[in-house]
Amino acid sequence: MDFCFCIPMICGCQTKISPEGDQTPRICPRCHNAAVTSAKSKEYFEFCFVPLVPMSSKHIWACSICQWAVPIQQGWEPPLVTNGPAGGYYPPQPPPTWQQQPNYGPPQGYPPPGPGYQGQYKPQ
Ligand SMILES: [Zn+2]
Repeated sequence: MDFCFCIPMICGCQTKISPEGDQTPRICPRCHNAAVTSAKSKEYFEFCFVPLVPMSSKHIWACSICQWAVPIQQGWEPPLVTNGPAGGYYPPQPPPTWQQQPNYGPPQGYPPPGPGYQGQYKPQ
């Protein structure tokens, strides 16, 4: 009697992420792209690649570019996209210091005073 029991036992967990709620793009803390949206993460127990039992679900922030994800927590959310430089999230840049350099010499583009001006002057 030859007996072969070779049914593949493929099971595991699979996480499905679906968009949820406000889909306004936000700045990703990791890749700094405006690709973070709120989503719902559902974990399924799957058997032979078929999701069977929903295990748990949680609300997350998810970045569609670098796959960064973090559970949504009270009192914090990724910064919104604004039109200002660097989104207003970072401290403003200090003014450049090269303006402090003194400007030596005569201004450029001025003809130096010469004898030509003296010759045109006719005293009364
Ligand atoms: Zn990202």
